[in-house]
Amino acid sequence: MSRLRSLDLPRSLVVRRVVALDNRVEIEVGLRKRSAVCPDCQCPTRRIHSFYQRKLADLPWQGRPATLIVSVPRFFCQTMLCPRRTFVTPLEGITVRHGRQTTRLADLHYYIAHTLGGSAGARMTVRLCCPISADTLVRRLLSRVQNTTKGTALTRVVGVDDWAWRRGHHYGTIVVDLEKNDVIDLLPDRDADTLARWLQVHPGIEIIARDRAGTYADGCRRGAPSALQVTDRWHLLKNLSDAFVSILDRFTTTVRTLTRQMNVSTVVSKISETIRAHPEEAQAVVRSASGERRDILFKEALALKAAGHSIQAIATTIGVERKTVRRWFQRGHAPPWKRTVPSRSILVAEISQKGCTSG
Ligand SMILES: [Zn+2]
Repeated sequence: MSRLRSLDLPRSLVVRRVVALDNRVEIEVGLRKRSAVCPDCQCPTRRIHSFYQRKLADLPWQGRPATLIVSVPRFFCQTMLCPRRTFVTPLEGITVRHGRQTTRLADLHYYIAHTLGGSAGARMTVRLCCPISADTLVRRLLSRVQNTTKGTALTRVVGVDDWAWRRGHHYGTIVVDLEKNDVIDLLPDRDADTLARWLQVHPGIEIIARDRAGTYADGCRRGAPSALQVTDRWHLLKNLSDAFVSILDRFTTTVRTLTRQMNVSTVVSKISETIRAHPEEAQAVVRSASGERRDILFKEALALKAAGHSIQAIATTIGVERKTVRRWFQRGHAPPWKRTVPSRSILVAEISQKGCTSG
C-alpha cells in the first residue's frame, strides 16, 4: 500500500490497483469525494446511481506510457421537483470535459510543442514515452494559444518571427508577448497582409521586435504605424557576425596561410593589423571579398576532385554544402558574388535614431 501512496497523483484520487504490463502501466483509481452538488438545483447528494470508467493517458511511469482508469460515480438528484434525475461531476484538476488525457500530460505536450514545434516535438514525445503526432501537437498548441489570448490584457511588446508549420515546406509567423514570454498567436503564413490585419485587431502594441524580412516591416508599418520596430538580440548578433565574416573574406589568402603557420591568437592580431593598415579600402574590398574566397575554394575543390575525392569528402574538407560543390562543378566555376545595394531599412533608421534595441 505504501508503494501505491507514493504515486504522484492528484489529491482527489485514490489508487486502487496498479497493473504493470509489458508495454504500458494501467493505474486504476477512484474519486476520494463521494458526494456532489446537483448542477440544476444546487442540492447536495450522496446517493450514487452507478459508476462508469474513463481512460485517461497520463504522464509516463517508469519508462512506460501510463493510463489512468478512473471510476467515476453518477449521482442521483434527490430533489423531487428537480428535472435532473442523475448527473456526473467534472474531473476538476484531473482532465477537461471529454478529455482523453490528464491535464498534466496536456501541459507537458504544450511545453514540448512550444519549445520544439511539431515534428521535433513528436519525436521527443516518443523518447519520453508519451507519443503524440506532430499534427496533434501543433493543433493543441494552437488551441491553447487561442484560449489564452481570449480576454487577456492588452499586449505592449511583441516579437514577430518565422515559424515552421513543416520545416522546409510551410512557414507561418509566430507572435510572442515579450513581457510575459508567452506565445500569443500563430499566423498561417508570412504575408505582410496577414500580419497587418493581426496588428489592427490587437491595438495598443508599442514595440515590435522582428526579423529583417521586408514583408514583416511592411506588415508592421501598415498594421501598427505608431509602434516602434526594433531588432532582437539574435538578429543583431547575426548582422554583426555577417559583417565580420565579410571583412575577413577580403583576407582569405592571408588567413589560410597564417592558420597553417600560427596559433589562433596570433592570426587574429595579424588580421587586425592588416585591416587597420588598409582602412581606406574597406568598402571596395568587402565587395569583392566573397567572390575571391569562392575562387580559392573552387580551386581547392578542383584539386581534391583530381585527387579522386568524392563530392561529399570535398564539401566536408572545404566547408561548403555538398550541393554547392556539385553546382560549381556543373558550371565549371564558382559563381561571382554580386552585392545588391541595400535600401535604407526602417529598422536601421529607427535604431540609429533612437538607439533602441530589444532583448
Ligand atoms: Zn437537482
